[in-house]
Amino acid sequence: MSHEVTTFQPDRLFAIRMDESDDLRHFRSHFLFPANEDGSSKIYFCGNSLGLQPTEAKEAVVQVLDAWHHLAVDGHFTGDRPWMDYHRRLVNMMAPIVGALEPEVTIMNTLTTNIHMALGSFYRPSGVRTKILIEADAFPSDRYAVESWIKLHGLDPDRDLIQLHADDRGYLAPDQIRQAIYQTGEQLALVWLGNVNYYTGQYLQMGSIASWAHEVGALAGFDLAHAAGNVPMNLHDEDVDFATWCTYKYLNGGPGSIAGFYVHTRNHGFPRLAGWWGQDRSTRFDMRTPFTPESGAEGWQISNQPILSMAPLSASLALFHEAGMQRLQKKSRQLTGYLDYLLRQINAPGLEILTPSQPEERGCQLSLYMPGMAAGVYRKLLDSGVILDFRKPDVLRVAPVPLYNSYQDVWQFVQLLSTSL
Ligand SMILES: *Cc1c(COP(=O)(O)O)cnc(C)c1O
Repeated sequence: MSHEVTTFQPDRLFAIRMDESDDLRHFRSHFLFPANEDGSSKIYFCGNSLGLQPTEAKEAVVQVLDAWHHLAVDGHFTGDRPWMDYHRRLVNMMAPIVGALEPEVTIMNTLTTNIHMALGSFYRPSGVRTKILIEADAFPSDRYAVESWIKLHGLDPDRDLIQLHADDRGYLAPDQIRQAIYQTGEQLALVWLGNVNYYTGQYLQMGSIASWAHEVGALAGFDLAHAAGNVPMNLHDEDVDFATWCTYKYLNGGPGSIAGFYVHTRNHGFPRLAGWWGQDRSTRFDMRTPFTPESGAEGWQISNQPILSMAPLSASLALFHEAGMQRLQKKSRQLTGYLDYLLRQINAPGLEILTPSQPEERGCQLSLYMPGMAAGVYRKLLDSGVILDFRKPDVLRVAPVPLYNSYQDVWQFVQLLSTSL
Protein backbone atom coordinates (compact mmCIF):
# COMPACT_ATOMS: atom_id res chain seq x y z
CA MET A 1 0.00 0.00 0.00
CA SER A 2 3.09 2.19 -0.09
CA HIS A 3 1.89 4.04 -3.20
CA GLU A 4 -0.98 5.63 -1.26
CA VAL A 5 -0.50 8.88 0.59
CA THR A 6 -1.47 7.36 3.91
CA THR A 7 0.68 5.25 6.16
CA PHE A 8 -1.86 3.11 7.92
CA GLN A 9 -1.82 2.40 11.65
CA PRO A 10 -3.47 -0.52 13.42
CA ASP A 11 -5.22 1.26 16.30
CA ARG A 12 -8.85 2.35 16.45
CA LEU A 13 -7.96 6.01 16.89
CA PHE A 14 -6.45 5.95 13.41
CA ALA A 15 -9.79 4.80 11.93
CA ILE A 16 -11.62 7.53 13.82
CA ARG A 17 -9.22 10.18 12.52
CA MET A 18 -9.54 8.89 8.95
CA ASP A 19 -13.33 9.14 9.17
CA GLU A 20 -13.12 12.66 10.56
CA SER A 21 -10.95 13.83 7.69
CA ASP A 22 -12.95 11.99 4.99
CA ASP A 23 -14.57 14.60 2.74
CA LEU A 24 -17.14 12.05 1.52
CA ARG A 25 -18.30 11.03 5.01
CA HIS A 26 -21.62 12.90 4.83
CA PHE A 27 -22.84 10.53 2.11
CA ARG A 28 -23.21 7.76 4.70
CA SER A 29 -26.22 9.54 6.19
CA HIS A 30 -27.96 9.28 2.81
CA PHE A 31 -28.24 5.50 3.15
CA LEU A 32 -30.42 3.18 5.25
CA PHE A 33 -28.49 0.48 7.10
CA PRO A 34 -30.11 -2.69 8.44
CA ALA A 35 -29.99 -2.69 12.26
CA ASN A 36 -29.09 -5.16 15.00
CA GLU A 37 -31.61 -5.98 17.74
CA ASP A 38 -30.08 -3.31 20.00
CA GLY A 39 -30.69 -0.71 17.30
CA SER A 40 -27.05 -0.30 16.23
CA SER A 41 -26.30 -0.43 12.50
CA LYS A 42 -24.98 -3.61 11.01
CA ILE A 43 -21.62 -3.53 9.30
CA TYR A 44 -22.61 -3.78 5.65
CA PHE A 45 -20.00 -5.06 3.20
CA CYS A 46 -22.37 -6.48 0.60
CA GLY A 47 -22.72 -3.50 -1.75
CA ASN A 48 -21.24 -5.74 -4.46
CA SER A 49 -24.40 -7.83 -4.27
CA LEU A 50 -27.15 -5.37 -3.33
CA GLY A 51 -26.37 -1.72 -2.62
CA LEU A 52 -28.11 -0.02 0.31
CA GLN A 53 -31.26 2.04 -0.09
CA PRO A 54 -30.67 5.79 -0.49
CA THR A 55 -32.79 7.78 1.96
CA GLU A 56 -34.23 9.77 -0.98
CA ALA A 57 -35.40 6.61 -2.83
CA LYS A 58 -38.79 6.36 -1.15
CA GLU A 59 -39.70 9.95 -1.97
CA ALA A 60 -38.70 9.41 -5.61
CA VAL A 61 -41.01 6.37 -5.82
CA VAL A 62 -43.83 8.24 -4.12
CA GLN A 63 -43.49 11.05 -6.67
CA VAL A 64 -44.08 8.58 -9.49
CA LEU A 65 -47.05 7.04 -7.67
CA ASP A 66 -48.48 10.55 -7.11
CA ALA A 67 -48.06 11.46 -10.77
CA TRP A 68 -49.82 8.22 -11.72
CA HIS A 69 -52.64 9.10 -9.30
CA HIS A 70 -53.10 12.74 -10.33
CA LEU A 71 -52.15 12.69 -13.99
CA ALA A 72 -52.81 9.07 -14.96
CA VAL A 73 -52.07 8.60 -18.65
CA ASP A 74 -51.06 12.24 -19.04
CA GLY A 75 -48.04 11.51 -16.81
CA HIS A 76 -46.24 10.40 -19.96
CA PHE A 77 -46.05 13.97 -21.24
CA THR A 78 -46.90 16.29 -18.35
CA GLY A 79 -45.95 16.92 -14.73
CA ASP A 80 -42.57 17.67 -13.17
CA ARG A 81 -40.85 14.66 -14.68
CA PRO A 82 -42.78 13.32 -17.68
CA TRP A 83 -42.27 9.57 -18.08
CA MET A 84 -41.33 9.90 -21.77
CA ASP A 85 -38.11 11.63 -20.73
CA TYR A 86 -37.72 10.25 -17.23
CA HIS A 87 -34.71 8.14 -18.24
CA ARG A 88 -32.89 11.08 -19.81
CA ARG A 89 -31.80 12.61 -16.52
CA LEU A 90 -30.60 9.20 -15.36
CA VAL A 91 -28.64 8.64 -18.56
CA ASN A 92 -27.14 12.09 -18.14
CA MET A 93 -25.80 11.06 -14.70
CA MET A 94 -24.94 7.51 -15.77
CA ALA A 95 -22.77 8.36 -18.79
CA PRO A 96 -19.89 9.88 -16.74
CA ILE A 97 -19.95 6.91 -14.34
CA VAL A 98 -18.93 4.61 -17.19
CA GLY A 99 -17.01 7.20 -19.22
CA ALA A 100 -19.29 7.25 -22.24
CA LEU A 101 -20.87 9.95 -24.39
CA GLU A 102 -24.50 10.50 -23.52
CA PRO A 103 -25.92 9.15 -26.81
CA GLU A 104 -23.92 5.95 -26.23
CA VAL A 105 -25.85 5.06 -23.06
CA THR A 106 -29.37 4.11 -22.18
CA ILE A 107 -31.04 2.28 -19.32
CA MET A 108 -33.43 -0.55 -20.13
CA ASN A 109 -34.40 -4.12 -19.20
CA THR A 110 -32.19 -6.09 -16.83
CA LEU A 111 -28.61 -7.23 -17.21
CA THR A 112 -28.97 -10.69 -18.73
CA THR A 113 -31.72 -9.45 -21.05
CA ASN A 114 -29.30 -6.76 -22.23
CA ILE A 115 -26.56 -9.35 -22.76
CA HIS A 116 -28.99 -11.03 -25.13
CA MET A 117 -29.81 -7.70 -26.81
CA ALA A 118 -26.10 -7.05 -27.28
CA LEU A 119 -25.29 -10.54 -28.55
CA GLY A 120 -28.19 -10.26 -30.99
CA SER A 121 -26.50 -7.24 -32.52
CA PHE A 122 -22.80 -7.88 -32.08
CA TYR A 123 -22.39 -11.63 -32.41
CA ARG A 124 -22.69 -12.06 -36.15
CA PRO A 125 -20.75 -15.20 -37.03
CA SER A 126 -19.84 -15.52 -40.67
CA GLY A 127 -17.43 -17.76 -42.57
CA VAL A 128 -14.63 -18.89 -40.25
CA ARG A 129 -15.27 -16.04 -37.79
CA THR A 130 -17.56 -17.82 -35.32
CA LYS A 131 -15.84 -17.92 -31.94
CA ILE A 132 -16.53 -16.09 -28.67
CA LEU A 133 -13.88 -15.69 -25.97
CA ILE A 134 -15.08 -15.77 -22.34
CA GLU A 135 -13.68 -16.58 -18.89
CA ALA A 136 -13.88 -20.24 -17.86
CA ASP A 137 -15.19 -18.86 -14.54
CA ALA A 138 -17.66 -16.45 -16.13
CA PHE A 139 -20.80 -15.65 -14.13
CA PRO A 140 -23.28 -18.44 -15.01
CA SER A 141 -25.84 -16.11 -16.59
CA ASP A 142 -23.21 -14.71 -18.98
CA ARG A 143 -22.17 -18.22 -19.95
CA TYR A 144 -25.75 -19.37 -20.52
CA ALA A 145 -26.45 -16.32 -22.68
CA VAL A 146 -23.34 -16.76 -24.81
CA GLU A 147 -23.85 -20.50 -25.27
CA SER A 148 -27.46 -19.98 -26.26
CA TRP A 149 -26.50 -17.53 -29.02
CA ILE A 150 -23.88 -19.92 -30.38
CA LYS A 151 -26.60 -22.58 -30.55
CA LEU A 152 -29.17 -20.17 -32.03
CA HIS A 153 -26.77 -19.67 -34.92
CA GLY A 154 -26.59 -23.45 -35.40
CA LEU A 155 -23.03 -23.57 -34.07
CA ASP A 156 -21.44 -25.69 -31.35
CA PRO A 157 -20.29 -24.28 -27.98
CA ASP A 158 -17.71 -27.09 -27.71
CA ARG A 159 -16.01 -25.64 -30.75
CA ASP A 160 -17.00 -21.99 -30.78
CA LEU A 161 -16.65 -21.05 -27.14
CA ILE A 162 -13.03 -20.28 -26.19
CA GLN A 163 -12.46 -20.25 -22.44
CA LEU A 164 -9.76 -18.45 -20.51
CA HIS A 165 -8.63 -20.48 -17.53
CA ALA A 166 -7.36 -18.42 -14.61
CA ASP A 167 -4.47 -19.71 -12.48
CA ASP A 168 -5.13 -21.62 -9.24
CA ARG A 169 -5.62 -18.34 -7.32
CA GLY A 170 -8.20 -17.17 -9.85
CA TYR A 171 -5.86 -14.63 -11.49
CA LEU A 172 -6.19 -14.00 -15.21
CA ALA A 173 -2.99 -12.55 -16.66
CA PRO A 174 -3.59 -9.87 -19.32
CA ASP A 175 -0.89 -11.48 -21.44
CA GLN A 176 -2.87 -14.71 -21.47
CA ILE A 177 -5.89 -12.83 -22.82
CA ARG A 178 -3.72 -11.25 -25.52
CA GLN A 179 -2.33 -14.62 -26.56
CA ALA A 180 -5.78 -16.22 -26.71
CA ILE A 181 -7.04 -13.37 -28.90
CA TYR A 182 -4.08 -13.56 -31.29
CA GLN A 183 -4.17 -17.35 -31.44
CA THR A 184 -7.85 -17.37 -32.36
CA GLY A 185 -7.19 -14.59 -34.87
CA GLU A 186 -9.58 -14.46 -37.83
CA GLN A 187 -11.82 -17.07 -36.20
CA LEU A 188 -12.60 -14.72 -33.32
CA ALA A 189 -15.95 -12.94 -33.60
CA LEU A 190 -16.28 -11.54 -30.10
CA VAL A 191 -14.62 -11.07 -26.74
CA TRP A 192 -17.10 -11.03 -23.83
CA LEU A 193 -15.52 -10.52 -20.41
CA GLY A 194 -16.46 -9.22 -16.99
CA ASN A 195 -14.14 -6.27 -16.30
CA VAL A 196 -14.27 -6.87 -12.56
CA ASN A 197 -14.44 -10.58 -11.87
CA TYR A 198 -17.35 -11.21 -9.50
CA TYR A 199 -15.46 -13.92 -7.60
CA THR A 200 -11.88 -12.65 -7.26
CA GLY A 201 -12.49 -8.92 -7.63
CA GLN A 202 -9.76 -8.67 -10.29
CA TYR A 203 -10.12 -5.64 -12.59
CA LEU A 204 -9.19 -5.96 -16.27
CA GLN A 205 -7.98 -2.95 -18.25
CA MET A 206 -10.48 -2.81 -21.08
CA GLY A 207 -8.56 -0.56 -23.49
CA SER A 208 -5.78 -3.03 -24.28
CA ILE A 209 -8.21 -5.94 -24.60
CA ALA A 210 -10.39 -3.93 -27.00
CA SER A 211 -7.37 -3.00 -29.13
CA TRP A 212 -6.14 -6.62 -29.32
CA ALA A 213 -9.64 -7.73 -30.37
CA HIS A 214 -9.83 -5.00 -33.01
CA GLU A 215 -6.42 -6.00 -34.38
CA VAL A 216 -7.75 -9.44 -35.30
CA GLY A 217 -11.04 -8.01 -36.61
CA ALA A 218 -13.21 -8.96 -33.62
CA LEU A 219 -15.44 -6.86 -31.35
CA ALA A 220 -14.96 -6.42 -27.59
CA GLY A 221 -17.83 -6.21 -25.13
CA PHE A 222 -17.78 -6.15 -21.32
CA ASP A 223 -20.08 -7.02 -18.46
CA LEU A 224 -19.65 -4.14 -16.01
CA ALA A 225 -21.83 -5.63 -13.25
CA HIS A 226 -19.07 -5.43 -10.62
CA ALA A 227 -17.41 -2.30 -11.96
CA ALA A 228 -20.22 0.21 -12.51
CA GLY A 229 -20.14 2.61 -9.56
CA ASN A 230 -17.04 0.83 -8.24
CA VAL A 231 -14.24 1.78 -10.64
CA PRO A 232 -14.17 4.82 -12.95
CA MET A 233 -14.20 3.77 -16.60
CA ASN A 234 -13.60 5.26 -20.04
CA LEU A 235 -15.69 3.11 -22.33
CA HIS A 236 -15.65 5.57 -25.21
CA ASP A 237 -11.96 6.50 -25.15
CA GLU A 238 -10.93 2.90 -24.60
CA ASP A 239 -12.86 1.97 -27.73
CA VAL A 240 -15.05 -0.63 -26.05
CA ASP A 241 -17.66 -1.76 -28.59
CA PHE A 242 -20.56 -2.45 -26.24
CA ALA A 243 -21.27 -3.09 -22.56
CA THR A 244 -24.04 -3.67 -20.09
CA TRP A 245 -24.37 -3.60 -16.29
CA CYS A 246 -26.92 -4.01 -13.55
CA THR A 247 -27.70 -1.13 -11.19
CA TYR A 248 -28.65 -2.96 -8.00
CA LYS A 249 -25.03 -3.68 -6.94
CA TYR A 250 -22.73 -0.66 -6.46
CA LEU A 251 -25.27 1.69 -8.05
CA ASN A 252 -27.90 1.13 -5.31
CA GLY A 253 -30.90 1.06 -7.65
CA GLY A 254 -32.81 -1.54 -5.58
CA PRO A 255 -33.56 -5.24 -6.10
CA GLY A 256 -33.89 -6.16 -9.78
CA SER A 257 -33.53 -2.53 -10.87
CA ILE A 258 -33.21 -1.48 -14.49
CA ALA A 259 -29.85 -2.09 -16.23
CA GLY A 260 -27.41 0.10 -18.14
CA PHE A 261 -26.54 -0.40 -21.82
CA TYR A 262 -23.74 1.14 -23.86
CA VAL A 263 -22.95 1.05 -27.57
CA HIS A 264 -19.93 2.90 -29.00
CA THR A 265 -20.91 5.62 -31.50
CA ARG A 266 -19.07 3.73 -34.23
CA ASN A 267 -21.51 0.82 -33.81
CA HIS A 268 -24.80 2.71 -33.83
CA GLY A 269 -25.72 1.37 -37.25
CA PHE A 270 -25.71 -2.32 -36.28
CA PRO A 271 -28.89 -4.35 -36.78
CA ARG A 272 -30.77 -5.20 -33.61
CA LEU A 273 -33.72 -6.85 -31.92
CA ALA A 274 -36.28 -4.10 -32.37
CA GLY A 275 -39.26 -2.78 -30.43
CA TRP A 276 -41.40 0.35 -30.52
CA TRP A 277 -39.49 2.12 -27.73
CA GLY A 278 -36.42 2.13 -29.98
CA GLN A 279 -38.35 3.75 -32.81
CA ASP A 280 -37.54 7.35 -33.72
CA ARG A 281 -39.40 9.53 -31.21
CA SER A 282 -41.00 11.70 -33.87
CA THR A 283 -42.82 8.71 -35.39
CA ARG A 284 -43.03 6.38 -32.37
CA PHE A 285 -46.76 6.84 -31.99
CA ASP A 286 -47.67 6.87 -35.69
CA MET A 287 -48.10 3.11 -35.41
CA ARG A 288 -47.59 2.43 -39.13
CA THR A 289 -44.08 3.70 -39.79
CA PRO A 290 -41.49 1.00 -40.58
CA PHE A 291 -38.75 0.64 -37.94
CA THR A 292 -36.33 3.56 -38.13
CA PRO A 293 -34.36 3.54 -34.89
CA GLU A 294 -33.89 6.50 -32.60
CA SER A 295 -30.25 7.56 -32.86
CA GLY A 296 -27.76 6.22 -30.32
CA ALA A 297 -28.15 3.55 -27.67
CA GLU A 298 -31.81 4.55 -27.18
CA GLY A 299 -32.50 2.90 -30.50
CA TRP A 300 -31.93 -0.47 -28.77
CA GLN A 301 -34.81 0.07 -26.34
CA ILE A 302 -37.67 -2.30 -26.95
CA SER A 303 -40.40 -1.60 -24.43
CA ASN A 304 -42.08 1.25 -22.68
CA GLN A 305 -39.85 1.97 -19.67
CA PRO A 306 -40.43 0.81 -16.05
CA ILE A 307 -40.59 4.22 -14.38
CA LEU A 308 -41.10 2.80 -10.88
CA SER A 309 -37.83 0.90 -11.23
CA MET A 310 -36.01 4.04 -12.31
CA ALA A 311 -37.12 6.18 -9.38
CA PRO A 312 -34.81 4.74 -6.66
CA LEU A 313 -31.95 4.70 -9.16
CA SER A 314 -32.46 8.36 -9.85
CA ALA A 315 -32.02 9.06 -6.10
CA SER A 316 -28.79 7.07 -6.03
CA LEU A 317 -27.32 8.52 -9.23
CA ALA A 318 -27.82 12.02 -7.86
CA LEU A 319 -25.44 11.04 -5.03
CA PHE A 320 -22.89 9.64 -7.50
CA HIS A 321 -23.21 12.83 -9.51
CA GLU A 322 -22.43 14.89 -6.42
CA ALA A 323 -19.54 12.70 -5.25
CA GLY A 324 -17.95 12.00 -8.66
CA MET A 325 -16.21 8.74 -9.57
CA GLN A 326 -12.70 10.18 -9.20
CA ARG A 327 -13.24 11.20 -5.58
CA LEU A 328 -14.96 7.90 -4.87
CA GLN A 329 -12.05 5.98 -6.32
CA LYS A 330 -9.56 7.93 -4.25
CA LYS A 331 -11.39 7.02 -1.04
CA SER A 332 -12.03 3.49 -2.28
CA ARG A 333 -8.33 2.81 -2.76
CA GLN A 334 -7.62 4.09 0.75
CA LEU A 335 -10.45 2.15 2.33
CA THR A 336 -9.66 -1.15 0.61
CA GLY A 337 -5.94 -0.54 1.09
CA TYR A 338 -6.67 -0.13 4.80
CA LEU A 339 -8.66 -3.38 4.90
CA ASP A 340 -5.82 -5.14 3.09
CA TYR A 341 -3.31 -3.68 5.59
CA LEU A 342 -5.31 -4.72 8.68
CA LEU A 343 -5.84 -8.23 7.31
CA ARG A 344 -2.10 -8.59 6.85
CA GLN A 345 -1.57 -7.27 10.40
CA ILE A 346 -3.69 -10.01 12.00
CA ASN A 347 -1.73 -12.45 9.85
CA ALA A 348 -4.32 -15.22 10.23
CA PRO A 349 -3.07 -18.67 9.31
CA GLY A 350 -5.12 -20.12 6.43
CA LEU A 351 -6.42 -16.78 5.23
CA GLU A 352 -5.30 -15.68 1.79
CA ILE A 353 -6.44 -12.64 -0.23
CA LEU A 354 -7.29 -13.77 -3.77
CA THR A 355 -7.78 -10.25 -5.10
CA PRO A 356 -4.69 -8.71 -6.74
CA SER A 357 -2.78 -6.40 -4.40
CA GLN A 358 -2.15 -3.67 -7.01
CA PRO A 359 -4.88 -0.97 -6.80
CA GLU A 360 -4.96 -0.78 -10.63
CA GLU A 361 -6.00 -4.43 -10.72
CA ARG A 362 -8.96 -4.26 -8.36
CA GLY A 363 -11.94 -2.24 -7.21
CA CYS A 364 -13.18 -2.11 -3.63
CA GLN A 365 -13.81 -5.82 -3.10
CA LEU A 366 -11.37 -8.21 -1.44
CA SER A 367 -12.02 -11.93 -1.77
CA LEU A 368 -10.77 -13.87 1.25
CA TYR A 369 -9.87 -17.46 0.57
CA MET A 370 -10.23 -19.50 3.77
CA PRO A 371 -10.17 -23.22 2.94
CA GLY A 372 -12.22 -25.26 5.39
CA MET A 373 -13.06 -22.20 7.52
CA ALA A 374 -15.06 -19.79 5.39
CA ALA A 375 -18.53 -21.21 6.20
CA GLY A 376 -17.93 -21.21 9.97
CA VAL A 377 -16.39 -17.74 10.02
CA TYR A 378 -19.25 -16.45 7.87
CA ARG A 379 -21.86 -17.67 10.41
CA LYS A 380 -19.96 -16.14 13.33
CA LEU A 381 -19.66 -12.81 11.55
CA LEU A 382 -23.38 -12.83 10.72
CA ASP A 383 -24.11 -13.38 14.42
CA SER A 384 -21.90 -10.41 15.31
CA GLY A 385 -23.81 -8.09 12.98
CA VAL A 386 -21.65 -8.19 9.82
CA ILE A 387 -23.33 -8.64 6.46
CA LEU A 388 -21.00 -9.95 3.81
CA ASP A 389 -21.06 -12.55 1.07
CA PHE A 390 -20.06 -16.21 1.21
CA ARG A 391 -19.30 -18.06 -2.02
CA LYS A 392 -19.09 -21.80 -1.76
CA PRO A 393 -16.88 -23.49 -0.88
CA ASP A 394 -14.18 -21.26 0.60
CA VAL A 395 -14.48 -17.58 -0.23
CA LEU A 396 -15.77 -14.58 1.70
CA ARG A 397 -16.24 -11.48 -0.42
CA VAL A 398 -15.84 -8.21 1.46
CA ALA A 399 -16.77 -4.96 -0.27
CA PRO A 400 -16.19 -1.70 1.62
CA VAL A 401 -18.07 0.85 -0.46
CA PRO A 402 -16.67 4.40 -0.41
CA LEU A 403 -20.09 6.04 -0.67
CA TYR A 404 -21.39 4.67 2.65
CA ASN A 405 -18.75 2.61 4.44
CA SER A 406 -16.35 4.07 6.97
CA TYR A 407 -12.83 3.35 8.18
CA GLN A 408 -14.37 2.37 11.52
CA ASP A 409 -16.54 -0.22 9.73
CA VAL A 410 -13.34 -1.73 8.36
CA TRP A 411 -11.56 -1.61 11.70
CA GLN A 412 -14.47 -3.24 13.55
CA PHE A 413 -14.87 -5.87 10.89
CA VAL A 414 -11.24 -6.96 11.17
CA GLN A 415 -11.55 -7.15 14.98
CA LEU A 416 -14.64 -9.36 14.65
CA LEU A 417 -12.99 -11.47 11.98
CA SER A 418 -9.93 -12.03 14.09
CA THR A 419 -12.04 -13.07 17.11
CA SER A 420 -14.05 -15.47 14.98
CA LEU A 421 -10.95 -17.27 13.67
C1 LIG B 1 -24.81 -9.82 -10.91
C2 LIG B 1 -24.40 -10.36 -12.22
C3 LIG B 1 -25.36 -10.84 -13.15
C4 LIG B 1 -26.83 -10.87 -12.80
O1 LIG B 1 -27.64 -10.82 -13.92
P1 LIG B 1 -29.16 -10.33 -13.81
O2 LIG B 1 -29.66 -10.47 -15.18
O3 LIG B 1 -29.15 -8.92 -13.29
O4 LIG B 1 -29.86 -11.22 -12.83
C5 LIG B 1 -24.90 -11.28 -14.38
N1 LIG B 1 -23.58 -11.28 -14.69
C6 LIG B 1 -22.64 -10.84 -13.81
C7 LIG B 1 -21.20 -10.85 -14.19
C8 LIG B 1 -23.02 -10.38 -12.55
O5 LIG B 1 -22.11 -9.98 -11.68
